[in-house]
Amino acid sequence: MSWDFQTIIEPFRIKSVEAIPILSRTEREVALEAAAHNLFKLPAAAVTIDLLTDSGTGAMSSAQWAALMTGDESYAGSNSYFALQKVVERLTGFTDVFPCHQGRAAERILSRTVIEPGQIILNNTHFDTTRANFEAVGAEAVDLPVPPGGDFAGNMDLDALDAALTTDAGRAARRVAMVMVTITNNAVGGQPVSMANLRAVRQRCDDFGVPLYLDAARFAENAWFIKQREPGFGDVALEDIVRQMFAVADGFTMSAKKDGIVNIGGLLAVRDPEWHQAMKNELILTEGFPTYGGLAGRDLEALSVGLLEALDEDYLHYRTRSIAYFSERLIEVGVPVIMPPGGHAVYIDAKKMLPHIPPEQFPGVALINALYIEGGVRAVELGSLMFPGSPRELVRMAMPRRVYTQAHVDYVIEVAGRVAKRAAALPGYEIVKAPAALRHFSAVLAPHREI
Ligand SMILES: *Cc1c(COP(=O)(O)O)cnc(C)c1O
Repeated sequence: MSWDFQTIIEPFRIKSVEAIPILSRTEREVALEAAAHNLFKLPAAAVTIDLLTDSGTGAMSSAQWAALMTGDESYAGSNSYFALQKVVERLTGFTDVFPCHQGRAAERILSRTVIEPGQIILNNTHFDTTRANFEAVGAEAVDLPVPPGGDFAGNMDLDALDAALTTDAGRAARRVAMVMVTITNNAVGGQPVSMANLRAVRQRCDDFGVPLYLDAARFAENAWFIKQREPGFGDVALEDIVRQMFAVADGFTMSAKKDGIVNIGGLLAVRDPEWHQAMKNELILTEGFPTYGGLAGRDLEALSVGLLEALDEDYLHYRTRSIAYFSERLIEVGVPVIMPPGGHAVYIDAKKMLPHIPPEQFPGVALINALYIEGGVRAVELGSLMFPGSPRELVRMAMPRRVYTQAHVDYVIEVAGRVAKRAAALPGYEIVKAPAALRHFSAVLAPHREI
């Protein structure tokens, strides 16, 4: 396909449609009040454009829906498993794979087998469930991101990695259980990791005898950024780039709810035969027999198709171009966005947009609630409410895969532009009631009133 047009088109047409709720402003005000001013408590039926997450929210293709019908539900040795194994081997070079019900199930099995209490895991940045699973078995999760900016802002900081690997504790007690690289680096905005960085990390893992794992949820978007940005990869086939990425790893976890383009699922793979056996035992305990893991045969079929569709270059061009357009246009209408955007979401700087609201009054919450009231758009706060003491007040709008059209993107831009115009009048929020942990999910909030 030639990509030299200004207009961004979806590289698909629509065969089956799902109506989205369009509410009046009054109905939205009532719904927000009933949800205690917390968008996590809002029923989906009250949301027009849902940008809460790109996880499990993608649209399956007609080929995936057709594949569901071919699912083999045999308990052991399902055809659907062998089909998935073949696709995974083609893309990653790993000859065996465990299906899991989600990425975090793979993380739990990994942490119960390979990790011992007191050990350290070094990661470019741990995803929150990954960190929680490692910490749950008494290990320490350490983040080594590079400073923001540049083409590969998701990279691991190699100097920090050297320092962590060469400390006495690391060498003497073999305290470093593994190095993990998250591709793309979700916690820093879906920023990519370069092949050069992956290989440099591998070299250090070889030098110190430490295994290297990938958290590969967005492997396709990462490969696409390598092809677009890294010298020497422009003419390399995307599948080859993917294989080269996985070639550095001793194992990987993957949430299939992202670039697997399925609504539920995950994968776990390892090369070492002893760990393979240990993981298999743990998998059987909580997920299921190894040829279906935590999934049905039909889920495996949809995933086999989705993993390959995620590498369609027309799709990846469209997805990254659409997100870049979204970011650029938001800036034009007065919304401060973190640039350059990553692969799956747009991040708004709520601190900059709402300078009159102090962190104690949650500028991110003020912004997401205003976006909802203005146009029924649901975004998520990544600031002082979700992470108490956070230095940043961000709002994320994540793009589900193949779900919304460019017209929906334009609509959200218009909604955000209107909110930007009345930004100075937006109220902060205060917590009326909240649990100590994970308070953002269930907090009861109210607009802040001067006393
Ligand atoms: C989503 C995600 C996970 C966890 O996967 P689930 O399928 O939600 O359990 C782990 N790592 C990264 C980078 C993710 O984006």
